[in-house]
Amino acid sequence: LWILGIETSCDETAVAIIKNGREIAANVVASQIESHKRFGGVVPEIASRHHVEQITIVIEEALRQANLTFSEIDAIAVTEGPGLVGALLIGVNAAKALAFAHNKPLVPVHHIAGHIYANRLVTELKFPLLALVVSGGHTEIVYMKEHGHFEVIGETRDDAAGEAYDKVARTLNMPYPGGPHIDRLAHEGKPTIDLPRAWLEEGSYDFSFSGLKSAVINTVHNAEQRGETIAPEDLAASFQESVIEVLVKKTERAVSEYKVKQLLVAGGVAANKGLRKALEQTFSKHPEVELVIPPLSLCTDNAAMIAAAGSVMFEKGIRAGLNLNANPGLNIELYNE
Ligand code: ATP
Ligand code: MG
Ligand code: FE
Repeated sequence: LWILGIETSCDETAVAIIKNGREIAANVVASQIESHKRFGGVVPEIASRHHVEQITIVIEEALRQANLTFSEIDAIAVTEGPGLVGALLIGVNAAKALAFAHNKPLVPVHHIAGHIYANRLVTELKFPLLALVVSGGHTEIVYMKEHGHFEVIGETRDDAAGEAYDKVARTLNMPYPGGPHIDRLAHEGKPTIDLPRAWLEEGSYDFSFSGLKSAVINTVHNAEQRGETIAPEDLAASFQESVIEVLVKKTERAVSEYKVKQLLVAGGVAANKGLRKALEQTFSKHPEVELVIPPLSLCTDNAAMIAAAGSVMFEKGIRAGLNLNANPGLNIELYNE
């Protein structure tokens, strides 16, 4: 079974081809980071324009890498949402054109289902499982009782973890995307600055990172007003410690309560070295659950994860018609029966 996946929800134009749901035959990512850097974040209009310019080239490159022609592809999977509407539309329209021209089934994929399914490119999934999703726009814990079935048991009430990283990085005058820079800096400093942890109500699996983000910004501004300087590496270390402590403790509690076989980690922030280490340390004490963390290249946006999720949705019989539209606010629980 050969699935071609297309991902254009944000600032990566990506196309991949997956065999039998798990083997990567091609994985092409054209990143636009250089074009957005000077604006300090993703500019939607620029993202759409780049996707238009790149999409055909990236599709052809993926087929070339896999050494396949369209006649051998079984279905086209595409990110339907969530994401930037103008960016999503380029991928959705490219997928519809290919499905129509080559008479192939079209499979709609939720971007976060894709991030979760990046883990299936690493190992076979064992249910029930939990996925800790930490990306630029999402922070949530998802319970899966079986393939293609997603229940969100907790989510952020304000900023996503990646968003907090990017905003803190901006306050410290670091380039976009700030996550990797804060991660690097944090390892050079000590967590000496007292910052809040948002635990929320007892038993809640929800998150909140905007208070932490504001506390970091206030710490910097107050120091500036007093003419003092705060070591940025210590601030980065303190911020990172706060984020990781809340993510790991809540996930540990969820794993115990839901008695899952696997814990998957997904999304761009799963590339964070401090988080990976803290999860490895914590779950080494829980041999009953298998911790799975994809390699860095499968944590950030790519189309291999979309094709991997698309393979499962294809087997579940989920299809889109040629009236498929981009859905920037798509709910991950939509395709549960
Ligand atoms: P979403 O998937 O929610 O739609 P997105 O696709 O923009 O959002 P991803 O591509 O999954 O997000 O991840 C990008 C985010 O990951 C950015 O916020 C970036 O700063 C963050 N990130 C990447 N590497 C690291 C790292 N090493 N430490 C912390 N954050 C990181
Ligand atoms: Mg991105
Ligand atoms: Fe993403």
